[in-house]
Amino acid sequence: MTDRRLPPTSGVTGRFAPSTTGRAHLGTLLAALLCWLDARSRGGRILLRMEDLDPERCRPEYAGQMQDDLLWLGLDFDAVVLQSDLRAAHERALDQLAAEGHLYPCSCSRAEVRAHGLPAPDGGWRYPGTCRARPLPMRGWRVCEEAIRLRLPRGFVDVPDESGLPIGHDPAALFGDPVVRRRDGAMAYHLAASVDDASAGVTHVVRGRDLATTTPTQVRVQEALGLPRPVYRHHLLLLEEQGGKLAKLHGSADASQLRSALSPPELCGHLAHSAGLRAEPLPTVPGELLVSFSWDRVRGDDRVAHWDGRTLSLSEPA
Ligand code: GLU
Repeated sequence: MTDRRLPPTSGVTGRFAPSTTGRAHLGTLLAALLCWLDARSRGGRILLRMEDLDPERCRPEYAGQMQDDLLWLGLDFDAVVLQSDLRAAHERALDQLAAEGHLYPCSCSRAEVRAHGLPAPDGGWRYPGTCRARPLPMRGWRVCEEAIRLRLPRGFVDVPDESGLPIGHDPAALFGDPVVRRRDGAMAYHLAASVDDASAGVTHVVRGRDLATTTPTQVRVQEALGLPRPVYRHHLLLLEEQGGKLAKLHGSADASQLRSALSPPELCGHLAHSAGLRAEPLPTVPGELLVSFSWDRVRGDDRVAHWDGRTLSLSEPA
């Protein structure tokens, strides 16, 4: 991965942090475009962080393809990092949390957590705290062969979203204590994202609304580690025709299909139109959108994407 020196800026740093679990799709590209427009319109720098920590779902070739697809669309980044290269910082964070008594081992399987029947707001299941009183092994978290969780304090996390979306909640009550290191040794998303945002000096997190429910838990991780809290903004999603957000898992049109049918300005025009930045889906480039970019012009509601293999159209959700 390339890692260029960061230029002097307004002090604003954004990041786009896709998981490398598949090829970019329309939703990925829209999120990248909005994130890029946000940072650049503030005179900021922007980092591309490949979130490649899940050994079951991430593949190295997707990281290279992701970077190539974003470049093809016309998005440039000041630095590109692989999250797996940042493990030392994640380990230091766990050392700190362990020293302060915030961590415990958890032997509960996913099926056991589900069996408690406590739905969480993201469609998953709330962890009821079964193992909460257990201590870490005497020789520390590194020798622990179970998942490791972070004890969260109870209480509402009041986190303003720049879009005005009410995203605050009590993560301990709604989700329970998060896993910070998985049973297979991989660092978990909430820990890694919080540590990496702070290490990179990220001031603005712009991402899809599907991730809004993760924010209060990440704020708790920041608080436990004494890290600064960035400004958050969660934006519209592109949806499947049959409902639900576009996802690599559902076989949505991926960048290879889009690139074979559309030029970069054509696709950029469609994305700008889907976001409400252009009245018509006419060809454009990110630099041109930057000139008049304002979040006031980005629609708040989601759009359904229709792709027939050659053309893209968008409609309001039914
Ligand atoms: N890697 C996460 C995803 O692709 C996003 C992380 C984030 O923006 O915080 O869903």
